[in-house]
Amino acid sequence: MDENTLHKPANDDLAAVVKQEPELAVEADPSIETAPDALSGTDLNQDKDRKKPVQYGGQALIEGVMMRGSSEYCMALRLPDGSIEVTKKPLSAWPQKKICKIPLVRGCVALIDSLIVGMKSLMYSADRNLGEETGQKLGIFEMIITLVLALGFGMLLFVGVPTVGAHFLQGIFAGSVLQNLLEGLFRLVIFFLYVLLISRMKDIQRVFAYHGAEHKVIFTYEEKQPLTADSAREHQRFHPRCGTSFLLIVVMVSIVVFIFLGTEPLWWRVLSRLLLMPVVAGISYELLKFSGRHMNSPWLSWLIAPGLWLQKLTTKEPDDQQLEVAIAALEGVLASGQEPE
Ligand SMILES: [Zn+2]
Repeated sequence: MDENTLHKPANDDLAAVVKQEPELAVEADPSIETAPDALSGTDLNQDKDRKKPVQYGGQALIEGVMMRGSSEYCMALRLPDGSIEVTKKPLSAWPQKKICKIPLVRGCVALIDSLIVGMKSLMYSADRNLGEETGQKLGIFEMIITLVLALGFGMLLFVGVPTVGAHFLQGIFAGSVLQNLLEGLFRLVIFFLYVLLISRMKDIQRVFAYHGAEHKVIFTYEEKQPLTADSAREHQRFHPRCGTSFLLIVVMVSIVVFIFLGTEPLWWRVLSRLLLMPVVAGISYELLKFSGRHMNSPWLSWLIAPGLWLQKLTTKEPDDQQLEVAIAALEGVLASGQEPE
C-alpha cells in the first residue's frame, strides 16, 4: 500500500439520503459561479493562472472520487469494510512545460493528461475494490495499448461512422455544406446515443452518483462553504466545466470547423477530420474554460446549457456517504497546499 495512504473511520451515523433530482437550470444560474471539472467523468483542471481562482477538477471512480491539485492528485475510496482510504500520487511534470501552456496546445495536453491520470485512478480504484481477487495490475505498456484502443474506438465511432455514413447519402444530400451538416448531425446523434446507452448500464450508476458528489463538493468549495455533506447536498450536481460538457462542445465545434472542409475523396474526408481533431479539442477547451469563467453571462447560456442538460445522464444524485468520499478527496488535495505556485 502507498505510504501516503491513511484510513478514516466510516461515519455510520449518516444515513444514505437519496435526494430527488433537482431541476436543471437551463438559464444562467447565479448558483453556478466561476468554476473548474468525459464521459468517464474526467474533469479538466489545467488552470494555473495566478490571479484567477483555483479551479479544481476531478473524476468519479469505482466507489471513489479523484481530485486533482497542481502537482498531485488525491483519490478517496470507500473500501468494502466501510472505511474511507485516501491516497495521494504525484502528477507528471511534462504538462507543466512552457510549450504545453500555449492556448490551443494546452487543451490537447489537458485532454491527454486527464485521460492518463483518469485511467490510472480508475484502475487503482478497481484494484482496491475488487482487485485483491483479480490481482490484475496494468503496466505502462498495457496502459498505452488500452489508451490507443480507446482513442481508436472513439475516432471510429465519432469520425469514421458519421463521415462514411454521410458519404453514402450523397445521392440525397449533395454538396459539401449539406454533406458536412449531415455528418455533424450523425456525430451528434451517435454521441447522444452513446451517452444514453452508458447511462443505462447498471454497473455505472454508482460511478455516476460519485460523479454528482464530485461536482457538488467542488461547488461547495467554490462557494467558500464548509466542506460538509450538509452544505454539499444543497448544490446542484451539474457543473459547467465537466468533461461531459467538454465532449459535447468538441462535437459542436467539430461541426463548425469541418463545415469548411471538402468532402472528396472519401479517404481524404476521413483523414482531414482526424488530423484536425487536436485543433478541435484545443478550441473546445478554450471555450469550456471561457464558459466556466463567465457563467453568469446570459448570452453564454446557450453554450453551457446543453452540457449541463447532458449531465442529467452522466451524474446521479449522491447520498451523504458518497459526498463524504468526495470531500475527503478534495480535503486531501487542499491539505497538501495544492495552490498554484
Ligand atoms: Zn463532471
